[in-house]
Amino acid sequence: MPNQPEPGGPVTAPDVCPFCKSTDIATTSKSVDVSTYWRCTACGQVWNASRLQNQRQPWSDRFR
Ligand SMILES: [Zn+2]
Repeated sequence: MPNQPEPGGPVTAPDVCPFCKSTDIATTSKSVDVSTYWRCTACGQVWNASRLQNQRQPWSDRFR
């Protein structure tokens, strides 16, 4: 993974949903930053980069 998010680092658009790995991701924001909310159209989860960094990938095993 070349684009690991770091606190305070640059934010890139997610390639896949962090919850279900779907690529059907939508956003309502025109610019991408830590407060940009993303919505997975496959599983319905909503998140942003700030939340993901704070949560430290709690989904890694929980959703399998
Ligand atoms: Zn999803």
